[in-house]
Amino acid sequence: MDFNTTLSHSMASYPDLLDFAAQQYPELSRLEKLWWAHYEYWDNNILATGIITFLAHEIIYFSRCLPWIIADALPSIFMKYKIQDQKPPPSVAEQWACTKYILLIHFVIELPLIVLFHPMMEFCGLSFSTPFPDWRPLTAQIITFFLVEDAYHYWLHRAMHWGPLYRSVHRIHHQYAAPFGLTAEYASPWETLFLGFGTIGPPLVLGLLGYDVHLATVLAWVALRQFQAIDAHSGYDFPWSLRRIVPFWGGADWHDDHHRYFWGNYSSSFKHWDVLMGTVAGPEAREKRRAERAKAQN
Ligand SMILES: [Zn+2]
Ligand SMILES: [Zn+2]
Repeated sequence: MDFNTTLSHSMASYPDLLDFAAQQYPELSRLEKLWWAHYEYWDNNILATGIITFLAHEIIYFSRCLPWIIADALPSIFMKYKIQDQKPPPSVAEQWACTKYILLIHFVIELPLIVLFHPMMEFCGLSFSTPFPDWRPLTAQIITFFLVEDAYHYWLHRAMHWGPLYRSVHRIHHQYAAPFGLTAEYASPWETLFLGFGTIGPPLVLGLLGYDVHLATVLAWVALRQFQAIDAHSGYDFPWSLRRIVPFWGGADWHDDHHRYFWGNYSSSFKHWDVLMGTVAGPEAREKRRAERAKAQN
């Protein structure tokens, strides 16, 4: 159902609205009732979408980083799972410096874009009313977003390793040769904008193409994409890591090699683009490139 149509908002507190939703819309799930009450409470769709989106981004980012911060603080337990184990874990000062920069990017770059998201979303035909979409189109759309983002990320990230673009844009992200969870979004504002479009663009384009895309699907997709990016930068590889179950999944082992060798493994989630284009990073690729450079100089 649509929002902002049923109540006089001068009296409505959040619990009142939840009670109202429970009486009027018993068919809705608990989460859908909360969603409905949230939009009614704020009585301003731009603000309501902005608050949900920004809070979800912050809570998911820092809560997903927390296990990796704990792992870095307990090297006696977790060092054996560290990929670059010849280097000490990041210090508290390094983690704090990274956190401050991430917060700056989130508030100065991402927050204004998040405020603009609701008008963009409506322009592209996305919906945000209750009930939420069925899990089947939601899953199919999220798989599509993963594949499209991965291809977009591969080519743009590869382009960012071209000298002038690397020096002016991408170098900040490579400040840490041994990444840790918090470094997932440690990047220049331009990189945040351009690579971030790979995450936020596909749902908008799918909406423009006439498909029924819901904001809840977008939020679920962005949460999973944050999980992927943070885990890929964690610096830890466990016997139960996803890449050991899904062979074409990149994971931390894959992206760690990108930071270690400054070349190859340009994709975000999967391995197929790097395998197809001959850009798999590692010691063999490094030796091959050295031999090619030596041959070219002779
Ligand atoms: Zn890179
Ligand atoms: Zn990275």
